[in-house]
Amino acid sequence: MVILVLNCGSSSIKYQVIDMEAQSSKLLAKGLVERIGLPEGDLTHKPVGKEKFELHQPIPDHTTGISLVLQALTDPVHGVIRSLDEVKAVGHRVAHGGEFFPESCLVTKQVQEKIRSLFQIAPLHNPANLEGILSIEKVLPGVKQVAVFDTSFHQTLPATNFMYALPYEYYQKYGIRKYGFHGTSHRFIAGETPKYLGKKPEDCKFIICHLGNGSSLSAIVGGKVVDTSMGLTPLEGVLMGTRSGDVDPAVLEYIMDNTGMDIHQMLNCLNKKSGFAGLSCSSDMRDVKAAAEKGDEQAQAALDVWTYRIQKYIGAYNVAVGGADAIVFTAGIGENDCEACEHVINGLSFMGVKIDPAKNKRGTVGIISTDDSTIKVLRIPTNEELPIARDTLEIVSKL
Ligand code: ADP
Repeated sequence: MVILVLNCGSSSIKYQVIDMEAQSSKLLAKGLVERIGLPEGDLTHKPVGKEKFELHQPIPDHTTGISLVLQALTDPVHGVIRSLDEVKAVGHRVAHGGEFFPESCLVTKQVQEKIRSLFQIAPLHNPANLEGILSIEKVLPGVKQVAVFDTSFHQTLPATNFMYALPYEYYQKYGIRKYGFHGTSHRFIAGETPKYLGKKPEDCKFIICHLGNGSSLSAIVGGKVVDTSMGLTPLEGVLMGTRSGDVDPAVLEYIMDNTGMDIHQMLNCLNKKSGFAGLSCSSDMRDVKAAAEKGDEQAQAALDVWTYRIQKYIGAYNVAVGGADAIVFTAGIGENDCEACEHVINGLSFMGVKIDPAKNKRGTVGIISTDDSTIKVLRIPTNEELPIARDTLEIVSKL
């Protein structure tokens, strides 16, 4: 069954087309639409086994962006399917499912309304995700759509671990609690890790470090999440590319009083101008490292803060799981920056955990710790689209 996987952002659409069978999957194409709503938009389409195709033209809205993707998919030269009839279902990444969605589900009018009701809690993501669903209704009428939520995998968090110590009525009235994000990545890695440990999922306790531009850690016991670093929104937790991660909330009032910023500008600063971008020269780990190597002390300080925050969370999650069997690195930095992972682990050497430099090479998948390390360290590439395609296949096949 050919499935289109869509991840719609406010000005972008990431997509993959996957031929899914019950036990296997074959990627046919992937690509990216960028700069939606700006004077010049871009489409980059990468069909597997064929030349990359690029298009530069104004893309005023998501419906136009998705129409261009569908044209590219069926194009005689760089297409990968003969007709749009072959697309049997569309799986959408939806950022926030609140407490409504512990699992992925078929998109109905009621589901759309629930996604809409979460706009206030997820203003940066859910409107764009719903826009993608409504666009597909227009351009592929009748095709089944499935919503896969970033928050679902974390719905196993016990109340002790998801409650903020605020007046309880805010949880009851407004759903204010920790939800967690990057759920499809944490779920994929939680499924893969036991295979490398040679154990059954129910017998494993480990910590997943999803370290990319957005970063989050999760504590996994018996295949289920018991704690995760992101919160009501993806702002909480470790230092990220542009997000601050944890700060004392009283800082907000102090900065606002001193700068005259309103709360929206303040949150924009915490989400888009903080983290690596705030502490140093760039949001991108590669730029920060290059600057630090040239002697930029602020860049080095930013790297040190990044490392320390992750170490603190690993320490906390070692408690949460009651002694971890493994620490797993994934996503852009976790998969590619062996040195950064090594720094994180070196600070934990008192726990007896040790990286093996001979194994800690880019491209190594699996265990990268020494044989005598008390906690195994692994590097596993994530796949955020495959769980979406799998859920879509499963849900649509049952109809
Ligand atoms: P997201 O999906 O959250 O946008 P990614 O998972 O793609 O982000 O990760 C992006 C981050 O990974 C950037 O900070 C980038 O610098 C970093 N990264 C990618 N490749 C490397 C590399 N070879 N060395 C160091 N960092 C890298």
